[in-house]
Amino acid sequence: MTAKTSPYLGRLAPSPTGRLHLGHARTFWVAQQRALAAGGDLLLRNDDLDASRCRPEFVDAFIEDLTWLGIMWRPPIVTQSQRLDRYRLALHQLHTAGTIYPCHRSRREVAEAAAAPHEDGLNDEPLFPPAWRSPADAPLPPLTNPVECNWRFRVPDGEAISFRDSCTGLETAVAGRDFGDFLVWRKDDAPSYQLACAVDDGEMGITEVVRGEDLIKSTFRQLLLLRALDLPEPTYYHAPLMTDDQGERLAKRHDALSLRALREQGITPSEILAKFRP
Ligand code: GLU
Repeated sequence: MTAKTSPYLGRLAPSPTGRLHLGHARTFWVAQQRALAAGGDLLLRNDDLDASRCRPEFVDAFIEDLTWLGIMWRPPIVTQSQRLDRYRLALHQLHTAGTIYPCHRSRREVAEAAAAPHEDGLNDEPLFPPAWRSPADAPLPPLTNPVECNWRFRVPDGEAISFRDSCTGLETAVAGRDFGDFLVWRKDDAPSYQLACAVDDGEMGITEVVRGEDLIKSTFRQLLLLRALDLPEPTYYHAPLMTDDQGERLAKRHDALSLRALREQGITPSEILAKFRP
């Protein structure tokens, strides 16, 4: 008799920019629980595209921390920096479809022009001023290799994008109001997180994305990319973020709550996981 194969495929996608902390542990544990409940698997994706912040020793560190915690994944590990050709292909597809345009504004200019200080903090990008967009009928310059300017995705202004989150319920955002034209490729010839993530989730057949709720707004962008690239859309489960005693979100700077620090204090994985059980 052949084993019954399950269609569920999730992923764990840490960035090697610091040690994993209790918040990551909870999100990854939720991901594992959901994969197990569905009889499915998880992939481990190394989100190492931000060369200025990523360090190889943090890849070893997250493998060690996840293993210690008892989180399992299906090998091989996917490394985004080894998939640049896939992302470049997607960029060309978007270019051919005319859904992107070149942008010569600096990150600082865009941040300063955004009307209100944006509430989503570091994990989100400011609203790109619509007045700075190039006209939809302007002829597109060719893509160079390497890419030497920023390219942005033109969002469908005024269109409400919705998805039913398996944790938070119905989520809706209006393109052009709640988020604007976003970067897909940077002038230093690197794909944006949004593009790489959408290409990976779509091409790898990820059926459910479990991640922190700070990425809900990114989901709207990634859904637009998946549709533009004609890739399958996963479902989403955005888990609540953990906060410290002051109500502040856990971040990699909370070294005292890193899994390594907890381990060194003699705390066991089952003591950590016991905190997460409802
Ligand atoms: N690597 C991203 C992060 O650590 C998560 C990406 C994702 O789950 O889509 O914030």
